[in-house]
Amino acid sequence: MATNVLVVEDEPEIRELLGFSLGRAGYDIIEAETAEVALQLLNERLPDIMIIDWMLPGMSGVELAKRLRRDDLTSGLPLIMLTARGEEADKLRSFESGIDDYITKPFSPRELIARLKALLRRTGAPEDNVLEIGGIRLDQTSHRITINGETIRVGPTEYRLLELLMRHPDRVFERNQLLDRVWGRSTYIEERTVDVHVLRLRKILKPYGLDTAIQTVRSVGYRFTP
Ligand code: CA
Repeated sequence: MATNVLVVEDEPEIRELLGFSLGRAGYDIIEAETAEVALQLLNERLPDIMIIDWMLPGMSGVELAKRLRRDDLTSGLPLIMLTARGEEADKLRSFESGIDDYITKPFSPRELIARLKALLRRTGAPEDNVLEIGGIRLDQTSHRITINGETIRVGPTEYRLLELLMRHPDRVFERNQLLDRVWGRSTYIEERTVDVHVLRLRKILKPYGLDTAIQTVRSVGYRFTP
């Protein structure tokens, strides 16, 4: 899958402009009209980056950014804020909301995309859509996994699980963190399910001697160590 951008913007014309320019640049766009809708969407699936309008009906973009930063699931999500010209001075002072970059309206879509790319580079999110570690190659556009040039078949859940672990090598994920990120917070399943899918993934990797890359951290969770 291409890099996923969640756009939170109440003005339809700007959403349309963003959707058009980001789509043409090869990004997948999810749109939310309000912060409340965005929060619901985040429970289903995490994007790679978010563009948030400052002024929204209901919860403001700033409040949304603050909430995202406080939540372990979204604290590391790259955020770009859209601000209206003239209100800048006040806004810049309250930048402790935790956004990574901002762009002033009216903006040039080209500049926005350049900023987005730069931010993705800085935060280590996939840009070329290929992740390669320890002999395992994930093509995030086609969802294809190859090991030593050989294509291997995995289910969608195993794919997402491996993708998450490979994006954060050596980081230990607790089972509930894996559930939130791989299955989405809005689904209610038992933590045991994680173990089942880790087992499946190890079984798939075993013929290549890579099953040990997914390590159990006793009484905590799992980590990927190539
Ligand atoms: Ca607005």
